[in-house]
Amino acid sequence: MIIDREIANLILDEQDRQINNIELIASENFVSNDVLHAMGTILTNKYAEGYPNKRYYGGCEVVDKIESLAIERMKLLFDAEHVNVQPHSGSQANMAVYSSVLKHNDTILSMDLSHGGHLTHGSSVNFSGKTYNFKFYGVNRGTGVIDYDEVESLALKVRPRLIVCGYSAYARKIDFKRFREICDAVGAYMMVDMAHIAGLIAGGVHENPTIYADFVTTTTHKTLRGPRGGAILCKKEYGEKVDKSIFPGIQGGPLIHVIAAKAVCFKEAMSDNFKEYTKNIIKNSQRLAEELKERDFKLVSDGTDNHLILIDLTNKDITGKECEKLLDNVGITVNKNCIPFDTQGALITSGIRIGTAAITTRGFSEHEMPLIADIIDGVIESKGNNVENFRKRVKNITKHFPLFRY
Ligand code: PLP
Repeated sequence: MIIDREIANLILDEQDRQINNIELIASENFVSNDVLHAMGTILTNKYAEGYPNKRYYGGCEVVDKIESLAIERMKLLFDAEHVNVQPHSGSQANMAVYSSVLKHNDTILSMDLSHGGHLTHGSSVNFSGKTYNFKFYGVNRGTGVIDYDEVESLALKVRPRLIVCGYSAYARKIDFKRFREICDAVGAYMMVDMAHIAGLIAGGVHENPTIYADFVTTTTHKTLRGPRGGAILCKKEYGEKVDKSIFPGIQGGPLIHVIAAKAVCFKEAMSDNFKEYTKNIIKNSQRLAEELKERDFKLVSDGTDNHLILIDLTNKDITGKECEKLLDNVGITVNKNCIPFDTQGALITSGIRIGTAAITTRGFSEHEMPLIADIIDGVIESKGNNVENFRKRVKNITKHFPLFRY
């Protein structure tokens, strides 16, 4: 029970929002009670700089066991040689990998932000773009899909020290084997940022990149459905460098309460239930994609192989920013997103990104997808009118899928 009434009331407000709205943000999810409870424990009181059995503080005998368990579970889940569960976020995981084997100004080849890459993949406003010499590949203008031959010729031209694959807004499967071949052709390290698809990989519905990549980074809170945080998986030979890069390199004490929740999440992700869950995420997103196409929505790459759909709004006379706001007003939460070759800036955009990881956790099935597509279509068509009517339709769906049973 929280004593601070102001904060307690705001948490209740947020709980109401999550219960009543349809959550379509592709990077969000609803964690289990066990994950939630692990985070809200006395583990938050403990300092544990260093690694299990090599700490800079006393009293770490219990937390050593927790962090070791998290590491072992993650190794097993992804068949990884070395794991670091301490990154506070996906961004820090990426920063740590870059700094473990690269020098300032080394060349990195990655996907352009506006084609689906992440800020930490070389944006000029991010540490990555300020520290390293990034060169970018993108998707094919016609297909919206990566042209691997083009990535290869670019790699041969710019000779990167490291190539990044794995994205924030790319709806298709990634050919990790092909990326390995490209990396080998130019002598580059291969880093996979699997933040968005980690759960799909754990569930076996997307290929596991750990056999191909030198480094795999992730967040633990998207399709993997764990606490907000990051992790790094790598080949054994880079383990020591990666560990040093996280601590003492860029972080201080690890968040042991979050690491405990990561351990819980990894165990959950090994279950048959979770495998079923990841199949359903894709079933839902593919059905939603089809329903949207039937309503004359253009999708980047014309569909999806994963949890996310990138909608190109250029035929709908509305910007991503306006669309996000209209949908927010009726209780559908999405985010505006640049589409490849966007003529609008990142604050306006010509697209929205939606995803099915959270609604699938909630129990939505293919049956709800046409209802959602209908509301999205109707809201855009009516440009801010009939808000109450759409809000009712949203609540008529959400009321059948209770959240937070504790
Ligand atoms: N990498 C990718 C591909 C992402 O999509 C994100 C977050 O959206 C991150 C890294 C960064 O994660 P965080 O927000 O935890 O720093």
